[in-house]
Amino acid sequence: MRVPVLTYHSNNVSGNDHASNDHVALATDLRTITRLGLRIVSLHQVVAVLLGEAPLASVERAVALSFDDGSWFDWHDLDHPSCGPQRGFAGILREHAAQSGRAVHATSFVIVSPQARDELDRTCLIGCGWWGDDWWLPAQREGLIAIESHSWDHNHPTLSHTAQREGRKGSFSAVDSHADADAQIRQAADWLDARLAPHRASLFAYPYGQANDYLVREYFPHHAAQHRVRAAFGTEPAPIETGSLRWNLPRFVCGQHWGSDAELERLLAESADRW
Ligand SMILES: [Zn+2]
Repeated sequence: MRVPVLTYHSNNVSGNDHASNDHVALATDLRTITRLGLRIVSLHQVVAVLLGEAPLASVERAVALSFDDGSWFDWHDLDHPSCGPQRGFAGILREHAAQSGRAVHATSFVIVSPQARDELDRTCLIGCGWWGDDWWLPAQREGLIAIESHSWDHNHPTLSHTAQREGRKGSFSAVDSHADADAQIRQAADWLDARLAPHRASLFAYPYGQANDYLVREYFPHHAAQHRVRAAFGTEPAPIETGSLRWNLPRFVCGQHWGSDAELERLLAESADRW
């Protein structure tokens, strides 16, 4: 099993080319993936194979897609204040499916706390209410984008208050006690399950890609009945393989691990099943 997971941030828009705009990158990369004869499978399918619940053949010659932070740019078409109209990730996926005739799927790891998103909308975006969760249930029902957890508040540095007990913000390494993990991970799963039923949140992506020993060796493996997470994802640049560490699965990040179609092609040649 060798499945690269490609990660995009829909808030990454500072220009209109592959290197400066994850919407341009996603649209281009989907064509590259199809041209190389790879298919797109859901992250849930990759986890099912990793856990021995689904056949290896179901993820052969495949990649999986994930999105982080869960703003409106994942779903809605928006007029960016300096870069102009931007197609939402959902529209890009639907267009690719229609044009290529191939199945597409992505998992969006969302920041769950409504208060945190409201404050981030003002401190990181332009305060237009573009971090709402109105689209999460329709996305889940359509089956194009699955909604999973990127923690309660990302322990984000621009928030006046986060769930970290000592007020240490800007790093997820600081989430290293049961109370903090419960507030960031179990609380987020409860919120999602209450609103997206019958869907049950089961995947987690570490904010900033930062795992730590407490979460990987203690909280995730030993408190499953509380958090219900089946696998957690970081940002080590490697494919998911048989035997990959379930509580810190690798992902490649657009802009960080590749910045052009040529670089993606090289990355996929090195990390996906041979085609
Ligand atoms: Zn994030």
